[in-house]
Amino acid sequence: MKLAVAGVGNNVSALVQGIGYYRRSGADGPLPGVTHPLLGGLRVTDIEVVAAFDLADNKTGRPLSEALFAAPNNYPELDAPPPAEDPEVVPGIADPEDEARIDQVAKILREQEAEVLLYSLPTGLPEVARAYGRAALAAGVAVVNCTPDPMAGLPELRAEAEAKGVPLVGDDLQSHFGSSIVHGSLLALLEERGLTLSGSYQVNMGGNADFENLRTHGEGKQASKHRALRQKVRRTDAVTVIPSAGFVSHLGDRKVAHMSVEARGWADMPVRLDVTLQVQDSSNAAGVIIDLVRIAAVARRRGEGGFPVAATPLLKSPTLVEDPLLQGRHAREALAELSAEKDG
Ligand code: NAD
Repeated sequence: MKLAVAGVGNNVSALVQGIGYYRRSGADGPLPGVTHPLLGGLRVTDIEVVAAFDLADNKTGRPLSEALFAAPNNYPELDAPPPAEDPEVVPGIADPEDEARIDQVAKILREQEAEVLLYSLPTGLPEVARAYGRAALAAGVAVVNCTPDPMAGLPELRAEAEAKGVPLVGDDLQSHFGSSIVHGSLLALLEERGLTLSGSYQVNMGGNADFENLRTHGEGKQASKHRALRQKVRRTDAVTVIPSAGFVSHLGDRKVAHMSVEARGWADMPVRLDVTLQVQDSSNAAGVIIDLVRIAAVARRRGEGGFPVAATPLLKSPTLVEDPLLQGRHAREALAELSAEKDG
């Protein structure tokens, strides 16, 4: 499956190195950390990056395999073979009004026969996100948006994607085992057991470029995390989410989340739960991106445009949620069906 990437940051480093890691294990080797070995018949190792866009001077003009390690990227270097296809990183869209550049990106996507564009830029660039979305749709290439900047949430892009039969997957991925998932599950458990939530908070910190950026653009992320929690529990008014309490450089690409949940049980007696989660932030993203890009590719090969419902459980702000709880059940079934399909 031919993938193009916009933004050669930590997420893409984790994704590309991880694919190499699993290739080294061989077809029958173990796949630790892979939720769906097959999706629509596609394996993790069936993915090749055929085009890569960035703007940083220390990344453009270099092969992808080198740019993955250029500062400020700080995902660990895995002992994995380099990608078989190793495209040069080329300048992407800097100015969302630059129509010539948008056409140029669309041309590269067509020439490289990309099937899916992974949008993985810093959060807080909604106009740039829209411009990449337009370029991909012009080229007939599916898009996966792993940021909270709206793309699938834009009615105009969604209408175009549906009309052209191009999948548009977004917005914002739900990390593999991230703080929203863990926090949401704890709150859902409380609800299921009939305890009354008094209040709950979640504070995240980390030392990668994404955390540095969230210091100034945390609001979109915060709203997106709240939407993610609403997929699991109805009452989020008593929940506080602080997506980035600060940049802690020695953590590198690790993320630490502290969660504290307070509730009342029988006879109004207090219950309190404190949890600390520590994860490799970008592995946590790549473990889900690998599923989203395969869902997008399979939908495109089948001519199914617009939002693929199977992507819902993997996103923080999926575009199709009228009744989030009901939608979740249908979507999980769609994902399970794709995962049960055999390799062609
Ligand atoms: P990052 O900051 O490491 O990488 C972003 C890359 O985009 C950098 O290489 C930067 O030079 C490049 N870039 C900036 N402007 C560009 C442009 N106009 N065109 C092309 N490239 C451009 O970020 P990351 O950790 O890889 O995360 C990417 C996105 O995914 C962020 O928005 C983040 O919030 C989101 N996300 C991350 C996680 C996670 O667990 N790490 C989870 C969900 C979502």
